[in-house]
Amino acid sequence: MKEVFSNPSMETIISLAKRRGFVFPGSEIYGGLAGTYDYGPLGVMLKNNLKTLWWRMFVESRDDMYGVDAAILMNPKIWEASGHVSGFSDPLIVCVKCKYHFRIDQVNTKPKKDKENNVVKSDEVWICEHCGTKNDMSEPRQFNMMFKTYAGASDDAVGVYLRPETAGGIFMNYKNIIDSMHPKFPFGIAQIGKAFRNEIAPRDFIFRLRELEQMEVEFFIKSDEWKQMFEQWRVLMHEYARAIGIQDSALHELEVLPEDRAHYSERTIDFEFDYPFGRKELWGLAYRTDFDLSAHEKGSGVELKYFDEVTKEKFIPHVIEPSLGVDRTVLAVLLCAYHKDELGEDGRVYLAFPPTIAPIKAMVSPLLKNKPELVEKAREVYVALKKDIPQVMWDDNGNIGKRYRRQDEIGTPFCITIDFDTLGEKPELKDTVTLRDRDTGSQERIPIKELSERIQAVL
Ligand code: ATP
Repeated sequence: MKEVFSNPSMETIISLAKRRGFVFPGSEIYGGLAGTYDYGPLGVMLKNNLKTLWWRMFVESRDDMYGVDAAILMNPKIWEASGHVSGFSDPLIVCVKCKYHFRIDQVNTKPKKDKENNVVKSDEVWICEHCGTKNDMSEPRQFNMMFKTYAGASDDAVGVYLRPETAGGIFMNYKNIIDSMHPKFPFGIAQIGKAFRNEIAPRDFIFRLRELEQMEVEFFIKSDEWKQMFEQWRVLMHEYARAIGIQDSALHELEVLPEDRAHYSERTIDFEFDYPFGRKELWGLAYRTDFDLSAHEKGSGVELKYFDEVTKEKFIPHVIEPSLGVDRTVLAVLLCAYHKDELGEDGRVYLAFPPTIAPIKAMVSPLLKNKPELVEKAREVYVALKKDIPQVMWDDNGNIGKRYRRQDEIGTPFCITIDFDTLGEKPELKDTVTLRDRDTGSQERIPIKELSERIQAVL
């Protein structure tokens, strides 16, 4: 079988995501709201699977990790201490002609050249990608990206922020975890949850959102072990990428230069992905020194040192932070999974999700929907299988070929068909079904009683 295409455009992915119930534009019937998207039935399942696998690999499979689910609204002093109130901003410039807002690095610039075609470095041509105007941009100004709201009735309302990252809630629970769980050192805290950033120019589907979800770890260490710990988490991030179907060749580590790193960071790696719109950040890994806990100790007046019972040392831990955006992960996974080949008469599209993250694990259907004896038997197989594997789906719409195409397009690894041989038309095949493999389209006959084990073996 010849593979014809596996590098989808953004339009292809956005359209499939909408058509098949993965991702819808937010507030659509009111014209949408920039930077917001809603996950549909298939998208929720995919996202849950990605989060569950991350939790399993980054938290449950280790004995040095603790999970939290902190409040999104927090005391605003937290964001003062962390530096977000003064520094969580992007440089904003506005096209004077059309008033379109840009983050400075999103503006197309062309170096100005002299008559001999030499670049005149000091002066660049700025082009508004919205209206095409050249060199008519406002002076840049810093724009704070935190969303502000008010907690309480209007008279005594307190200005609060929607958290711009989940890490803040983790640092707030560092002391609670020590006091309640008595962790041995080193240990880490993980959280999955929503974060909000008033991005100047949300764009590229679910890549740059104003409401996003993150999976973050703060791993507390002694300063002299940071290199080894950094490496440990770097390796785990690659393992996770492989497990969710992001090929090694699509993921690139960018060593962030000292001048581009946050001032407290001693080392940062951006894990970049080849999106159709260019190579851009997917995840980040940073060594944040003891900046966060020191700042919160100072800001709150509460001691945040760790006392090591064994060595009798008392110190402020340093931190390694793997930070993964869920939405960018969904996008990367969809882009990697998308395949088109020439199977069947008209060719087909299929999403080659690893079975662990596929929203639906198997589809059960009767060969013909107007034969009650086939439907009854198929229902029996479906009900029994669904007890073992809840993400099994029933489909008897259209002909069997169409059902296979539909399942291929949502990435279902297996299709199970109940036919007359299942009922015993050929006695030697009684109580067997066809099991179709999504990637090859090949079918085999297997006994009903082996179905569950066979599917669960790859989940
Ligand atoms: P960028 O440079 O692309 O704005 P960032 O460096 O500000 O990203 P971090 O603050 O390191 O991002 O956030 C950690 C992770 O959260 C990112 O690697 C990304 O996966 C995700 N993320 C950050 N901002 C957004 C956003 N606006 N929309 C979707 N995901 C985001």
